[in-house]
Amino acid sequence: AKAAGGNRFALADAAADARAITRHGLTTALPTALDRGEFFIEYQPLVHLGDGTVHGAEALVRWCHPQHGVLGPDRFIPLAEHTGLIVPLGRWVLEESVRQANFWQERHTDGGPLRINVNLSPTQLHHPGLVAETVDVLERSGLEPGALCLEVTESALIGADDDLLKPLRQLAEMGVDIALDDFGTGYSNLANLRRLPVSVLKLDRSFTQGMQQHPADPVDLKIVEGIVALAHSLDLAVTVEGVETGAQAEQLRRIGCDTAQGWYYARPGAPDRIHSLLLADAV
Ligand code: C2E
Ligand code: CA
Ligand code: CA
Ligand code: CA
Repeated sequence: AKAAGGNRFALADAAADARAITRHGLTTALPTALDRGEFFIEYQPLVHLGDGTVHGAEALVRWCHPQHGVLGPDRFIPLAEHTGLIVPLGRWVLEESVRQANFWQERHTDGGPLRINVNLSPTQLHHPGLVAETVDVLERSGLEPGALCLEVTESALIGADDDLLKPLRQLAEMGVDIALDDFGTGYSNLANLRRLPVSVLKLDRSFTQGMQQHPADPVDLKIVEGIVALAHSLDLAVTVEGVETGAQAEQLRRIGCDTAQGWYYARPGAPDRIHSLLLADAV
């Protein structure tokens, strides 16, 4: 038994070593990955719950690693944050997705403005060039600021002081929407919302998961109803993440959520997918 225990530890150690080696390898490969064009963006539609039409899309970055294949952001965004590469990477994601959104916009002028949602990490929020770079990207692309929504997690803004909020306020004044991402996972005071320059709440997937059961957990329903009522009373729009079934979508629509995102509508995918959804809406 002792030997087996020893082996188990040896195996656990080996697995930990392998993870550390991979992490180390990914960290050293990150800086050149951007120059080599190994990152790409998938887009996931955001849909109006009322009529099912496309409201916009969220840009989600992936890394096509030469040895490990396609890696999701959870594998490398934390490393990029840690090493500071998130600043140039985030700038690239913004530039690329804004360019893409402008392309869609120009081809679907009748469908109303199409929104593009881009994630901002805490390190990007602290980067002094954020506002100037965002203005520059928008001006060069021709996309109006009102079509851009920057998603910031609730946890990144907990206890945020005025210095941190200032760039977000400036962007909001220009017409850029700021969304509070993963809402409900941090412990932010709801009353605190009033001092944040946000116009959209993105309800975390954990709430939608609670509604997966049949019948939906009544407590989860009440909580979501309460959040939606509060958000609307503060003039905030509510987006729900992680909608996987038609039943969930229907319930969320009844409760009054504005927009939704999830596998029920579409998984993140190539830009063409959004293009064809927009064409379908236009019919
Ligand atoms: P997030 O911003 O909360 O993005 C939503 C995540 O939920 C995405 O995971 C998406 O693929 C997944 N998702 C969408 N619909 C469903 C559904 O119906 N069910 C389930 N189970 N999952 C769904 P993904 O693409 O792996 O991204 C993970 C996180 O990585 C994102 O979470 C975001 O925080 C971060 N991220 C992605 N792209 C960027 C980026 O360009 N910059 C930064 N800073 N972070 C990014
Ligand atoms: Ca997000
Ligand atoms: Ca989220
Ligand atoms: Ca998340």
